Amino acid sequence: MTEYAVPFHWRRFKERYLLIGSKCEKCKRYFYPGRAICPVCRRSGSLKDYRFSGKGKVFSYTIIHVPPKGFEAYAPYIIAIIELEEGCKVISQVVDCKPEDIKIGMPVRACFRKIREEDKSGLVLYGFKFRPD
Ligand SMILES: [Zn+2]
Repeated sequence: MTEYAVPFHWRRFKERYLLIGSKCEKCKRYFYPGRAICPVCRRSGSLKDYRFSGKGKVFSYTIIHVPPKGFEAYAPYIIAIIELEEGCKVISQVVDCKPEDIKIGMPVRACFRKIREEDKSGLVLYGFKFRPD
């Protein structure tokens, strides 16, 4: 194991399972996934880990009818851009909601679900999904 492996994996773990990103103390912007440098303030910024509340609303969405290999059993399913109440956006699956029931502006909340293992294609799957709130 290389020297940087532990913090790297811990950071990824926090992002996937705890919905942790960053907040810039200077410009008060939030980022997910977390950043090392604030893209607005650059060197003068000060980024701290921030755990998002998980509350947000549907910003836009798409219904997946023809899923990638390995996800056939889940189709059709909803992939949405969620605008978190802190103001940043994440892409996630929306569960416990029929494709015909989802609406832009609908309140949603993060939930934690069993997810498929990462496969050889390197497909990245976060540990959280969103459901109607
Ligand atoms: Zn900043």
